[in-house]
Amino acid sequence: MNLLLRTVKRSAVCAILFVMPLRSSLLPQAARQANVAGLAENARVEFALDWFKKNHAWIDQQQIELTEIPAPSFQEEKRAAAVASALSSAGLTVHTDKLGNVIGELRGASDKQLVLVTAHLDTVFPAGTHVKVHREGERLLAPGISDNGTGLAGLLALAKAIQAAHIVPQRSILFAANVGEEGEGNLRGMRALIDAYRMKLRAVIVLDGSGTDHVTTKALASRRMEVVITGQGGHSWSDFGMPNPINALVRGGLRFINTKVPTVPRTTFNLGQIEGGTSVNSIPYEARLKVDLRSESEDEIVRMEIAFRDSMGAGVKDEMDNARDRTKGKLDWKINVIGSRPGGELPADSALMAALRVADDFVGNHSRIERSSTDANIPLSLGIQAIAIGAGGNGGGAHSLQEWYEPAERELGLRRALLILLGMAEVSEKDNG
Ligand SMILES: [Zn+2]
Repeated sequence: MNLLLRTVKRSAVCAILFVMPLRSSLLPQAARQANVAGLAENARVEFALDWFKKNHAWIDQQQIELTEIPAPSFQEEKRAAAVASALSSAGLTVHTDKLGNVIGELRGASDKQLVLVTAHLDTVFPAGTHVKVHREGERLLAPGISDNGTGLAGLLALAKAIQAAHIVPQRSILFAANVGEEGEGNLRGMRALIDAYRMKLRAVIVLDGSGTDHVTTKALASRRMEVVITGQGGHSWSDFGMPNPINALVRGGLRFINTKVPTVPRTTFNLGQIEGGTSVNSIPYEARLKVDLRSESEDEIVRMEIAFRDSMGAGVKDEMDNARDRTKGKLDWKINVIGSRPGGELPADSALMAALRVADDFVGNHSRIERSSTDANIPLSLGIQAIAIGAGGNGGGAHSLQEWYEPAERELGLRRALLILLGMAEVSEKDNG
């Protein structure tokens, strides 16, 4: 750290960091790295780093117990209650917000800024899915065991290790188990957390699934839309000539799939679901089409969204213009956005990226950068530093009934996560001497 910066009060630096989220640090990278690397020499941090291996059986047990509590999106309450009591016994001040997010706070030496570490509670499995965990050798098997049993167990382990080591962070840390990450949950839990804490947030670390080989620093933007076309409906023979909602949907759909999309930035669309009609000899009164639009670029998403609206509008107009009998009713249409995940990217020169690199070096890990759709989309889209990482061990078969997890070397992932977390929260010099 250079002399000039050293004379600037920490709070002033924080304020600068906060108002310049896209150029997240004015400190030279080497200085930041030294800061994070120095962490591991702190005796309390060292104790916390060792805690994971010593307590691996306890961590496994948490993961099994939480996985066996069903938690489909929108029905996370029971699992949330179990996480709340576990976070309380890790010494945190815990509350549940009105959406059902569980938030445990560890007060820092200063509460001017916060670091948020999260794991989503929900699974893609509907109520009634058999979620009892069974073992095959070292392997644990159950739907949701890895996504996100591993993340939740990791969240509790981080809180416990910090408590056991009596670490007082410089900035407050919020440990949150959030609702609504999967599917039509549409990141609603994370959206509420960011809304509530946005003004103080320095960084967000999302624990999602297993492994240590990847890190999501780029948010894949997506939009999911549904068009609903309605008309009067009638008899296929006697009302022939009336505008037909399915015809309009086919006309519009055909226009849309001819939309040109770039390979760079990679941009995709999918017509995923069509519904409508009541019988083969009826002119339908309704037709629906759901599409999924994704891109590495938010601009392309917007462009495709406009193309979809234009295409469907033109399809409806074509059908009405071509109706053989214009006296027989008209068509109405509307488009509903049923999901929206904004894009964004963690800057390569950000403090969080530096903390990640130093943590990887320290534990001897190599991780590749990925673009994906996770809870980190929300902070990244707002210019708040965020990453999503696996919480260690190995897993597979996510979102399938054959999902599995192997906890061997889980501690590598947790040591990495702890160093990143404390790299961003920093350890209070005063209380941890
Ligand atoms: Zn997940």
